[in-house]
Amino acid sequence: MNTSQHTLDTLTHLSHATDYDPDSMAVDKARAFIRQCLEPVCPVEHVPLREALGRVLAENIVSPIAVPGHDNAAMDGYALRFADVVPGQETRLQRIGVSFAGHPFDGEIGSGQCLRIFTGAMMPRGADTVVMQERTREENGVAVLAPNAVTATGQNRRFAGEDIAPGATVFSRGQRLHAAELGMLASLGIADVPVYRRLRVAFFSTGDELVSFGTTPAAGQIYDSNRYALYGMLQQLGVEPIDLGIVADQPEALEAALMSAAANADAVITTGGVSVGEADFIKALLERLGKVLFWKIAMKPGRPLAYGMLGRAHFFGLPGNPVSAMAVFYQFVREALLLLQGQAPVTPPPTFRAVLTAPVKKTPGRTEFQRGVCETKDGQCVVTPVPAQGSNILSSMSRANCFIVLPMDSGAQPAGATVDVQPFHGLITG
Ligand code: AMP
Ligand code: MG
Repeated sequence: MNTSQHTLDTLTHLSHATDYDPDSMAVDKARAFIRQCLEPVCPVEHVPLREALGRVLAENIVSPIAVPGHDNAAMDGYALRFADVVPGQETRLQRIGVSFAGHPFDGEIGSGQCLRIFTGAMMPRGADTVVMQERTREENGVAVLAPNAVTATGQNRRFAGEDIAPGATVFSRGQRLHAAELGMLASLGIADVPVYRRLRVAFFSTGDELVSFGTTPAAGQIYDSNRYALYGMLQQLGVEPIDLGIVADQPEALEAALMSAAANADAVITTGGVSVGEADFIKALLERLGKVLFWKIAMKPGRPLAYGMLGRAHFFGLPGNPVSAMAVFYQFVREALLLLQGQAPVTPPPTFRAVLTAPVKKTPGRTEFQRGVCETKDGQCVVTPVPAQGSNILSSMSRANCFIVLPMDSGAQPAGATVDVQPFHGLITG
């Protein structure tokens, strides 16, 4: 069964489930519903190491070598046999040569001998321990070790394979590659990396009132901001954004845009036109073109959300209000796009407990994602709500650095109450 058929079947099944209530969908339930519909969609490709940054691994990586490849010194000093060290007294050892990083010594250390050695240089045969140079002095080719300069065999020595053993699984399929992983792959000599193709995500804004910059807004018109916020969020998730512009509130124009988006992308995102009034007409259109479920999520900001399939593409209809669009993207679409990209596992964004510096308003019955600034003060994590919390106040997203997550059943909270915060940092990347 292909992925889109799997999703269609799941959508049908879910829409008939007894606990399915499109007019009041809890945040967690909606997330779980969407999760069931998602399977990775992207084929595998091989890319040069640098291009693998931010991509998702399509195969396990097994180390072809040991890292480090040889025993080496962890310090500048002298390599020696621990058995030669005189406990509690000075030890005198004949220096027989030197080993630099990249220039190994080609002999063996015998009893009573030592080798001048530098950090990263290969351990010579015969030696098992390194003494740091700060605990030594040299007199006419003899190294003099201070009493107790080394106290155990193997000190200051790094072992071959102590970072990675040959044949070890270093990274697993589904892992996203960040800077450290690029460095690790390079340390294994891997130049070519199997990753999933970038997920193609087409998006457009709907609304007769919208114009793009470059056009002066007439009376009643506004600049389209959602497409740019969306572009930013998509880019940071490592997908390939396909910007299809602004589409008027006209059935023919919307149908054409949706069809073209679905034909060219793995996922389609729209903003606007899903709230009451407009929803009916978009709903009819989407029901004709695919299988899409409309939900009223019990959350603020962000109430309306549409999710389903348009042809072979996953469809997400987000609300038009700019803060709602971003909140719904971060709470639902982000995870969905990571799963579709093949990332596994997708861990929930980290949440911390923080103390409110000011009271917050809240009515029970829906989960709220208020915007706040969290920081550490006197060793304690505190959070201050930004003053304007309207779903149209985009500057609130920019002033804030976290969502203050107030659970469905909770009411208003006084200053001093402890709440959950979700730093934006944990949401912007995969
Ligand atoms: P809608 O969901 O289409 O009813 O839109 C709700 C509100 O969001 C209205 O005030 C719209 O003008 C505004 N809005 C919709 N789309 C955008 C957009 N792309 N950029 C900025 N504001 C928008
Ligand atoms: Mg609209």
